[in-house]
Amino acid sequence: MSSRILSGKDIAESIKSEVSADIAQLKAEHGVTPCLAVVRVGDDPASAVYVGNKVKTSEEIGLISEQHHLLDSVSHEDLLSLVEDLNSRDEVDGILVQLPLPEQINDKEILEAIDPEKDVDGFHPINVGRLSQGEKALVPCTPAGVIEVLKRSGIEIAGQNAVIVGRSNIVGKPMAMLLLQENATVTICHSRTRDLPAITQQADILVAAIGRAGYIRGEHIREGATVIDVGINKVSDVGFARELFGDDEIEKRLAAIEKRGFTLVGDVNPKEAKEKAGNFTPVPGGVGLLTVAMLMKNTVEAARMRRKI
Ligand code: NAP
Repeated sequence: MSSRILSGKDIAESIKSEVSADIAQLKAEHGVTPCLAVVRVGDDPASAVYVGNKVKTSEEIGLISEQHHLLDSVSHEDLLSLVEDLNSRDEVDGILVQLPLPEQINDKEILEAIDPEKDVDGFHPINVGRLSQGEKALVPCTPAGVIEVLKRSGIEIAGQNAVIVGRSNIVGKPMAMLLLQENATVTICHSRTRDLPAITQQADILVAAIGRAGYIRGEHIREGATVIDVGINKVSDVGFARELFGDDEIEKRLAAIEKRGFTLVGDVNPKEAKEKAGNFTPVPGGVGLLTVAMLMKNTVEAARMRRKI
């Protein structure tokens, strides 16, 4: 069987243009342009790329974006006081503190200091609690993006068996809550799960959020299932790349390894998934593209909820 590839690109573009129209409407009707404040600490190159993308997309779609770049040596107290300042400024609608933070910073305390109404990452315990109670909440962007991919690709969720591999607070657990809200029958697997293939084989919708390149293989996938690959891993070994990619992709991947030293790979073996899955999200170009679009959506939603407009 040859699977349908669910590209995140068109879906992300649609969401961004809907959000952009919503921003224009907020401005016309209420004189409000939502503002997203992004805080970055230190010089982690990956964080610089992620924050750069968020700021660029904010500007493209018409949000006001504020960037705060602090030194790696910033104290916990100084970061906390920046968060408190952003909380108190009425014109700031969304606050995002890019992780990871240096070791002198207590991440948990910083994330919990963000006003839940401005918590556009959806990591604050108040939003986590609201999500688990099925109330209106700001929801973590990556799992929210997965739901958009499923819905906009016409994939039925209600009544389906959904299996999530991974139980992190940023992906696995909120993913489970969102699929449950959509009336799927949800199973969560993790590193202590016995006989993983026996469980994942039951999945109509299989979500992999593990952090191990190509870990989910053909034996894990039921024929015809929808496989959503959340993983983002770097592979630099040519032999391993050959195990992951078929003739359709291998040359491009080897060229990337040659040029950049790595190629980006999800948590699913794409060669085997394409043979068994009914629908499959590629890496890159799949759900990863949705995260920033959903952040934009959350910022506008936060502005509407907090300002009651
Ligand atoms: P994480 O915090 O490291 O969690 C990984 C989860 O996978 C844990 O729950 C772990 O189980 C489970 N796991 C590890 N090895 C396993 C195994 N052999 N069998 C079954 N379960 C196993 O990772 P994360 O932050 O959720 O991220 C997961 C992946 O998604 C990463 O590749 C990350 O880069 C990617 N990601 C992408 C985006 C995006 O697209 N924008 C956003 C976030 C994350 P235990 O709990 O038992 O340890």
